[in-house]
Amino acid sequence: MVNKRRNSEPQKLTSMMNKFNVKLRNILWINGLCCFILPTLAGVWLWHEGWCTAVAWQCFIRYASAFHCEFTVNSLAHAYGYRPYNSTIPPAESWYVSLTTLGEGYHNYHHSFPFDYKAAETWDLLNLSTAFIRLFRSIGWAYDLKEASEESVKGLVERLGKSAVS
Ligand SMILES: [Zn+2]
Repeated sequence: MVNKRRNSEPQKLTSMMNKFNVKLRNILWINGLCCFILPTLAGVWLWHEGWCTAVAWQCFIRYASAFHCEFTVNSLAHAYGYRPYNSTIPPAESWYVSLTTLGEGYHNYHHSFPFDYKAAETWDLLNLSTAFIRLFRSIGWAYDLKEASEESVKGLVERLGKSAVS
């Protein structure tokens, strides 16, 4: 006698893994197209760069620069800056990290309210990622966005903010 339930679990898992592999393959293809192929072709066709120059700039220099800017979030923004929301944690507000990462440098707020989609209390020109999310909210592609309430922000600042601990 064969237990149908027992046999269906591995089949279900295999089916899920196959679907995941197809999605991953599509994502990698789109990622490669948008990150490397199109920028390289743009350099060659639009700016008349040589192939070696276009590949060097778009596949190596630009990509490495973007990675290094992104890595500053977990290095510089965890060490330098001010801590107005929670002065007991290392993450800090770093305008220079926000400048290179389009808004991800407001890290003290982000770690104090990790559920908040804005990653910063207020919007400014350095926080373009919030503007990007709001753009997608306006066309319905982003929804159910969570925000910290004014009271919770004020409460945390009073308890653990820079002026509370020193
Ligand atoms: Zn962090």
